[in-house]
Amino acid sequence: MPSNNHTQNRELQQEARAWSDRTGTKYTAALRQLNSPLAQGLLGDRVSPRQLIAVLDEHELIGARGGDPVLGENGFRSESPWRFNGETDLIELALITDMLRMFTPIPGDATPEVGSYALKHTAEWFLSPHCSYVSNGRLIWAAAALGLPIATPDGAGPNLLIGVPEREHDYVRRMVNRGPRRPRVHHYRPAGYEHLQAALAQAAAGQPITGGWVRPAVVEDATPFHDWLVLQARRDDAVGDFASDYAAGVRDSDHHVARTPEELLAILYEVSLSPAAYDSAVITIAEWMRTVPSSVPIRTERIGRNAHDHNGWGAGAGTVERYEYRCPCGDGTIIEEHDNIPGFREHDVWITCDKCREEWRFVPGRPIRQWGLEPAAALDGTH
Ligand SMILES: [Zn+2]
Repeated sequence: MPSNNHTQNRELQQEARAWSDRTGTKYTAALRQLNSPLAQGLLGDRVSPRQLIAVLDEHELIGARGGDPVLGENGFRSESPWRFNGETDLIELALITDMLRMFTPIPGDATPEVGSYALKHTAEWFLSPHCSYVSNGRLIWAAAALGLPIATPDGAGPNLLIGVPEREHDYVRRMVNRGPRRPRVHHYRPAGYEHLQAALAQAAAGQPITGGWVRPAVVEDATPFHDWLVLQARRDDAVGDFASDYAAGVRDSDHHVARTPEELLAILYEVSLSPAAYDSAVITIAEWMRTVPSSVPIRTERIGRNAHDHNGWGAGAGTVERYEYRCPCGDGTIIEEHDNIPGFREHDVWITCDKCREEWRFVPGRPIRQWGLEPAAALDGTH
């Protein structure tokens, strides 16, 4: 047996011994659990019983630190002792640990805001059927062992606040609780969510997990239009109402973030808002374009294209290229046409929708193929 395997086995034996001594679990049962595929650490290192025990003894908030235990099965400062079954406790703690690992770490100076009791239910739903019951105390225990920030909401217990992002938790909860408000878009999906679901299924089926999980680097997209729009939600006018609805839609994962006015129009088309909301959006976009003169004009989705040969007008054959785009309101089209016929080269673009022809203008000075729109109100400064 190679020496590194030997060292690893010794390590596991010591871990199993520590768990056995502390919890009254049979040594062989502890070792068997540590060797379970489900306890191997699906998003990180294998769970360490010695570290779990050290947290109960030494953690600054939930550790006994020489006194009576402050954490029990029901939570913080509950008098309920741990109820170890001696069969699956370690595996379950390992699974709760992985469930917590999938979330993005919150910044060091942020205040934890997700209640342990809500999180324990989310863990149960997420880990089902591999872990059917998660106690409040074990959720807090695993979070503390993982080093997540923990706070007391009122000092009393038994529930504590755990440092995972509130939006990500809300997303996961609504994904797994089989309720009616399932997220439609996934910008708040925790980085480890899909990997953990796949790895859980593999481990439960006894298949080896190949390749560890590496937390992806956080890429902060610059979203000036979105940022500006969200700020307008405080206003007491049509733009404020519209911005407030938009911000709620992002928060509740009902639709995507609009990085540009163009993306905002695409979202409105997808969620088919009321005509009044669309009108508010046009006013909002006009204001944005007046505020930021360098903003990029709007293009819409291309919905058709064709090119055909043309016999020409006596000076030889040519082609006609024609592209069709959706108009901003979605009820009509924008047509872009190029006649490539000897002696007759025409390039033109026009809006076929009466409403949009009133409300939008082609930004002047751009080649036809680079046409872009802005609200008429952005040009003349009126609504
Ligand atoms: Zn239109």
